[in-house]
Amino acid sequence: MAEKIPQGLIQIYTGDGKGKTTAALGLAMRAAGHRMKVAFIQFIKGEQCGEHFFVSQQHPFDIVQISAGDSFTKPKEQLSREAQQTLAYAEEEMLSGKYDLVILDEIFVAISHGLITIKQVLDLLNKKPDSVELVLTGRKAPPEIVQRADLVTEMLMIKHPFTEEIGARRGIEY
Ligand code: ATP
Ligand code: MG
Repeated sequence: MAEKIPQGLIQIYTGDGKGKTTAALGLAMRAAGHRMKVAFIQFIKGEQCGEHFFVSQQHPFDIVQISAGDSFTKPKEQLSREAQQTLAYAEEEMLSGKYDLVILDEIFVAISHGLITIKQVLDLLNKKPDSVELVLTGRKAPPEIVQRADLVTEMLMIKHPFTEEIGARRGIEY
């Protein structure tokens, strides 16, 4: 059993540049290397990509998606219901005492689409146990949540090669 984190903090990875989810995955790998327990929970996303295949082969930790399927084709009511369920699940896991590191990937996208509220997320942060490090990712982190966090990194988009010809690349973007 790994030692507990004496003082877990709140981290944010936001901004328009590439690297938010992959930074959170890198952190999860580092923590898992110290036998820390990781909960990696994804909002919005319902499709499998490289990291899901990796964790199902190697089992360093689980990546949980409450949503299933393509988020672009779902009605807003369904997206809202799934985001609310994901938030409730995240709270349960954060409070369970089972995890040292809890990552809520794309939670800011759920806020910016109006699926969950800033207040709900602030309430969640107020309940964070001291022993849990909590990481929130996604574009458009609201200032109220940025203010509440201990560590905030903004990925600045200087260049991104995504175009009609190049598209999203397997193993790199997904
Ligand atoms: P990654 O998952 O590669 O770390 P991210 O989490 O920072 O990226 P998101 O905002 O979650 O990026 O975007 C989802 C997808 O869009 C990812 O496949 C990502 O690589 C890609 N992407 C990131 N930034 C840009 C950008 N500026 N323009 C186009 N696509 C982008
Ligand atoms: Mg992301």
